[in-house]
Amino acid sequence: MSATIEVQPSGKVLIKCFNPATGEPLRELEGHSSEAVDQTLERLRSAAASYNYSPVRERVKLVRRFRKALVANLDGLIESICSETGKKRPEALLEVFAAFEVMRYQANIAPRTLRSRYRSSGILIHKRGYVAFRPHGVAAIISPWNYPFVLVVSPLVEALLAGNTVAVKPSEFTSLTGLLVKQVFDEATGRPELFELAVGAADVGQQLVTSPLIDVVCFTGSTRVGQIIAQVCAKTLKPLILELGGKDAMIILEDANLKRAAKSAVWGGFTQAGQVCMAVERVYVMASVYDEFLQLLREETRKLTTGNKPEDAIGPITVDFQYDKVQAHINDAKAKGAVVETFGEPDGQHMPPTLLTDVDHTMTVMTDETFGPELAVMPVESEEEAIRKANDSLYGLSTYIFASNERRGRRMARRLSSGMVVINDVIIQYGLASLPFGGFRFSGLGKVHGKEGLLGFSQQQSVVGTRFPMPMELWWFDLAHKTYGLLRKFMKWWYR
Ligand code: NAD
Repeated sequence: MSATIEVQPSGKVLIKCFNPATGEPLRELEGHSSEAVDQTLERLRSAAASYNYSPVRERVKLVRRFRKALVANLDGLIESICSETGKKRPEALLEVFAAFEVMRYQANIAPRTLRSRYRSSGILIHKRGYVAFRPHGVAAIISPWNYPFVLVVSPLVEALLAGNTVAVKPSEFTSLTGLLVKQVFDEATGRPELFELAVGAADVGQQLVTSPLIDVVCFTGSTRVGQIIAQVCAKTLKPLILELGGKDAMIILEDANLKRAAKSAVWGGFTQAGQVCMAVERVYVMASVYDEFLQLLREETRKLTTGNKPEDAIGPITVDFQYDKVQAHINDAKAKGAVVETFGEPDGQHMPPTLLTDVDHTMTVMTDETFGPELAVMPVESEEEAIRKANDSLYGLSTYIFASNERRGRRMARRLSSGMVVINDVIIQYGLASLPFGGFRFSGLGKVHGKEGLLGFSQQQSVVGTRFPMPMELWWFDLAHKTYGLLRKFMKWWYR
């Protein structure tokens, strides 16, 4: 059972939180009313009036204090993540690692990245121009349930370092970790006015996105909701970062280390029960090694256990409706002729890992994001066909290539239509905090992480001053007609 949301006759929203692994009730929370959200945004707006102009080094100090306090609360954070998502401890640890890595990297590069920079004046040598990075004002961050810590903390610190005050809406299914993060932030920084939570469901998210008090939106979640938010933001041209779904492909070439490829497919497909945006969902294997790879894949999958015991490999599906979606994809594939191999028995919200073969691109399991512990495997005759099939998707988050020759992988990357390409590994791209993270097409717009992550929460302002005054203004009204001939000649010579 996952969290439930009840609107009471009084209009109050009650969120009942459960541990999806055990069904055990965790806590009841009251969602924010529309008036409470408005008041929160007013407070953030007034805090922004000074924070927007704060020196970057002060923001860096704030983020470092916050990080140290989170490190001191590591066990409590892991406990919170595990209890409301059902994740296994190593999975929660990895999530926290990714956030710490982003916090550390972004705090280190912020002073350099956000420093104003002079640019060439071109032919206008008497002028001096520079680009300055200004915060948007107040940022809204809307997060999903599959990473309740990193997808709150990473965009939060990027927005804060860029000088914005921040409203965060955690997923209604995983608000408890967000509350803990807020508590740690307030205690560590003594600046509760810089970051506030808006707890609730879609209506609270909509209120943030439509509010004139919000200047930039960073949304992580499904493509469907991302499209709704993009339409809302288009009306006021509100800047928007979208980190959306994926249908990530893995390509296994004939010279790949098949054992590593099989282990990678199993971890990349089944970690967090497949509830990872960049999970491996489609596997294209060269026909010459298809049988051998499949054999290894079955062996590796057979080793996995699903359940509540700490030593089990795979935890539950976090939210009820997701279970039905995964099952519907598997049923659709089966009805269209796929061979379905299930490694274990379903139990409550625990779904056993499933391999699908004899699949094709008419099946939803090959086209729509499944977000569950299922892997679809298909043989391909050539590198060319592998690239074509991997690119045959509305999504474009990541592609994984397994090849013994890394140069061949890098060459293929040029032709792969996805925001990220990883050679001989899976999901690791999220841990390289210096690299921009984000997808092509239905997988999103804009980037988080890297200097691009800081710049996404900034506006670029061009400032022009004077290096030395000119004795006359050549194209102002009083001279324009007189200098026309001379300027025309000069242009023909200079730009020849
Ligand atoms: P979701 O889109 O249903 O919800 C995400 C957030 O948006 C939640 O907080 C929700 O309350 C809010 N929301 C829902 N409707 C809204 C609306 N109309 N206006 C404003 N806010 C609204 O996604 P989910 O089910 O929570 O998460 C799973 C999805 O997130 C998957 O598609 C997954 O691929 C994606 N995801 C992407 C990344 C990435 O970095 N690309 C990372 C994690 C998850």
